Amino acid sequence: METRQHTIKKKVSFAGVGLHSGKRVKLTVKPAPADSGICFVRSDLKRKVTIPAYINRVVNTFLATTISEDNVQISTTEHLLAALNGLGIDNAIIELNNNEVPIMDGSAAPFVRMLHKVNRKRQKTTRKVLKITKEICWRQNGSEIKILPYDGFKITCGIDFDHPLIKSQSYSIKVSPDSFSKEIASARTFGFLEEVEKLQKNGLALGGSLDNAIVVDQSKVLNDEGLRFPDEFVRHKILDLLGDFALLGCQLQGHVIASKTGHTQHLELLKTIADHPECWEFVTFKQNKEDGVFEWVSLTSKAAGNKILPYLVPPGIDISEAVACC
Ligand SMILES: [Zn+2]
Repeated sequence: METRQHTIKKKVSFAGVGLHSGKRVKLTVKPAPADSGICFVRSDLKRKVTIPAYINRVVNTFLATTISEDNVQISTTEHLLAALNGLGIDNAIIELNNNEVPIMDGSAAPFVRMLHKVNRKRQKTTRKVLKITKEICWRQNGSEIKILPYDGFKITCGIDFDHPLIKSQSYSIKVSPDSFSKEIASARTFGFLEEVEKLQKNGLALGGSLDNAIVVDQSKVLNDEGLRFPDEFVRHKILDLLGDFALLGCQLQGHVIASKTGHTQHLELLKTIADHPECWEFVTFKQNKEDGVFEWVSLTSKAAGNKILPYLVPPGIDISEAVACC
């Protein structure tokens, strides 16, 4: 795991449409100081509203993840946040002139390509890492998501659809900027033709098209170019999970295992993690003066876990609904 925090060397802009709003949006990712995390800023409003990318700002997880501050919302945050999380970018300001992150091609690849171009910038401050020491699990109605102690950051995801093309798929990856860029970033979001038509009648998925989503009917993929990976569907689920887990606000050391989950379940596990400080330690790196080697240093003891909760959960969040079941 990298020891230092990272931002980007210079700003980079994107333009596109929102998947659900269908509205055009321009978005710029800018460098940010160490320890500032990821923040969204709406530039189209008279008053400047900043929305930190934190779990306690999430107001909706239906179809996409929406965060809000002061009645100002930003939706479909997950693919851009996956790009930042996957590339190990800790600090950035994301400015946009509408209420939804552009869907681009339905994956994180366009974001990743441009972020690679402007390059990351290593910062002096060391990273803070939430290190899982004991299994934490959340399950409900056939969905299960858990995190286990692991030396690194790994995601294993399984899906099971009653559809001849998708069926059961599972995928496991040790997350690094390189593995994320090659194996996960270009996996696109997907939808079923019948459901897409229903959503559009209800004013959702208005920007959706074969240019920004895989669409399947009862037996085949409707996109002319076909799939990017035979198991693109489950890879996209990992992409979504990485994007939602950026809302933890720090790096994670552990193995996430998710089965039949979506945004709602991802957020439930994050809230359960925050609610169980006895199952993790908050650590950072310290450089040994003699040989220059970095060592883990615990910022807290397990018993003092409660003290660090504000790092993860800024005041105001209600985590009482989180349920630990393991
Ligand atoms: Zn997605």
